[in-house]
Amino acid sequence: MVVKIYRSARSLTKKVCDVKKQGKTIGLVPTMGFLHEGHMSLIRRAREDTDCVMVSIFVNPAQFGPKEDFKKYPRDFKRDFSLCEKENVDIVFAPKVEEMYPENYATYINVEKITDTLCGASRPGHFRGVATVVAKLFNITMPDIAYFGQKDIQQAVVIKKMAEDLNMSVRIKAMPIVREKDGLAMSSRNIYLNLEERMQAQSIYKSLKLAKELFDSGERDSGKIINKMRKVIDKQSEAKIDYIKIVDTKGLKDMKKISDEAFVAAAVWVGKTRLIDNIILRQRPK
Ligand code: AMP
Repeated sequence: MVVKIYRSARSLTKKVCDVKKQGKTIGLVPTMGFLHEGHMSLIRRAREDTDCVMVSIFVNPAQFGPKEDFKKYPRDFKRDFSLCEKENVDIVFAPKVEEMYPENYATYINVEKITDTLCGASRPGHFRGVATVVAKLFNITMPDIAYFGQKDIQQAVVIKKMAEDLNMSVRIKAMPIVREKDGLAMSSRNIYLNLEERMQAQSIYKSLKLAKELFDSGERDSGKIINKMRKVIDKQSEAKIDYIKIVDTKGLKDMKKISDEAFVAAAVWVGKTRLIDNIILRQRPK
């Protein structure tokens, strides 16, 4: 099957209307491209669940801070396109920046409170940019189901909240984190790491696994768990912790004592690359 590439929002929406008229369901996978197995897992799930699979590839300037890596973010459209073709994606939406944000663009979406913590605290304006572009993508593609990775757990929570608050009739599915063999969460940004940094980056998942081990053996004090995690990462010369937090899974509020369920989320600079990862802690049923 040949993948169709759309650059224009208007012509894609026209196509979407035709697809809907045929009674077909639409699955959307929003990405910034430079696709890896994490993205592919979302695409495969969309292929299983829905009739027409759309993948958007758009490096969204609105979610990058002025000193962040928008310009040097890795891009390889040809490779992305052939990966989509292999997975029988129906449509790739790859708009130019001017298509999404024409001159005098003025409308943004702010999801409050849950964006004040974690990456929202370290990257002011990031989730405003994410929510805005995802809302635009939802309006353009009118998906039945949209797929997000748990790797960006706060993003998935923010998008769910936005869809609920704004009565958007799309289901949001959050899919498990896909990891490299050594445990590092797959990310387009992993390409920035040199060999030494790549080794040291393993400490992030090691520390998250330690958190889970401690929780599973009965520890419920977040402070104690976080201290032990810090020690694992601080041993690495190139690693600098941005945050490690243990938060509740709905409101993302800090939990001093963990009850049945929590996210442990970490953001760590390894050299000049900021990596994020997380793990869920869940009490086993008795
Ligand atoms: P990005 O291109 O980084 O904006 O990611 C696009 C989507 O893929 C987001 O919903 C991410 O959460 C998801 N994603 C990125 N990395 C992974 C991974 N390692 N495992 C699962 N999903 C991922």
